[in-house]
Amino acid sequence: MLPYGRQSIDDDDVAAVVAALRSDWLTTGPAVAEFEAAVSAACGDVPAVSVTSGTAALHVAYAAAGVGPGDEVVTTPLTFVATAAAAALHGATVVFADVEPDTGNLDVEAARAAMTERTRVVAAVDYAGLPAEPERFAELAHAHGALFLEDAAHSIGSRWAGRPVGAFADLTTLSFFPTKNLTTAEGGAVLATDPGLERRARLFKNHGLVREPDAQRWPDEGPWHQEVHELGLNYRLPDVLAALGTSQLRRLDAFRTRRAEIHARYDEGLRDLDGVRTPAHRADAEPAWHLYPLRVLDGRRREVFESLRAAGIGVQVNYIPAYWHPAFADLGYRRGLCPNAEAYYEQEISLPLFPDLTDADVDRVVEEVRRAVTGR
Ligand SMILES: *Cc1c(COP(=O)(O)O)cnc(C)c1O
Repeated sequence: MLPYGRQSIDDDDVAAVVAALRSDWLTTGPAVAEFEAAVSAACGDVPAVSVTSGTAALHVAYAAAGVGPGDEVVTTPLTFVATAAAAALHGATVVFADVEPDTGNLDVEAARAAMTERTRVVAAVDYAGLPAEPERFAELAHAHGALFLEDAAHSIGSRWAGRPVGAFADLTTLSFFPTKNLTTAEGGAVLATDPGLERRARLFKNHGLVREPDAQRWPDEGPWHQEVHELGLNYRLPDVLAALGTSQLRRLDAFRTRRAEIHARYDEGLRDLDGVRTPAHRADAEPAWHLYPLRVLDGRRREVFESLRAAGIGVQVNYIPAYWHPAFADLGYRRGLCPNAEAYYEQEISLPLFPDLTDADVDRVVEEVRRAVTGR
């Protein structure tokens, strides 16, 4: 089965991990600082805090934003559930606003209509790798005294108006899961444009431990002393995985180029096919495409999905609207809330897209899609 996403690991990656294993540190050592510096350099020189997953990055980012009970977080339903779940786990109320019908990205005007005086964070997702109007979302959030969080789990390496993802939002979260644009096996990062937000993120991912005597309440306790002012968790990315990440980052440009080539080859092969719609583009974007979200029209998504799976094409669906999950349904969220997101979900199939896919693989997928859609 051809998977929909897959890591690309080369000999340099293997050597980097082996070197970390033979070093003095397995967990938080020099490889972590090196990786954070490299992530920052790839993301507009915004400081980066590494964590153990994209989900941890969201949990940390909402903590840094001070999100809690009584606060509202406006977000998109067309995302992996973690974007909403991490806010809800802090006690916030999640407010789902609808997406643009063509890109599947959170609609700025829908988000604007959902803002109240309780809105603490607007969280957009760069769906499939296409940045979600980051300048307009930053402006919208700030006009309401809120923060803009960009869930860039799909989009490290993407650019908007010539600047890299990470340069725009108060808080940007990344995922380094194997199917994403680069991997550390499990891993993630939070980018924070404000030093106060960065500090809060660093504290939350390391139990809230305050080590600087100047900042402690009881600094005379002894040289061993560290104290917790606000509770946190352990979300520290180990050196072994950070070393893999630094090695992977050297190929980020090559990954973006190859992903764009594959995306263009699918567009070329499927554009003229009746009964499907190829993904929307935006003039300001140079995406590092994470997904190729094909839309299957006329209620035929399931049928086409099943025949592609039967043909050995490991297609996926991204995503069921977040509030359809029973955990949100049980809180009273009703189907019909965001019609564009629901319509998008009902048509979407993600075709295989990863750097090691060959042109012949792509052509085979195109052929199977054409066969499944036309029945010939
Ligand atoms: C993958 C993903 C996450 C979670 O990242 P993990 O590293 O799998 O925890 C969050 N948001 C979106 C949009 C994702 O695609």
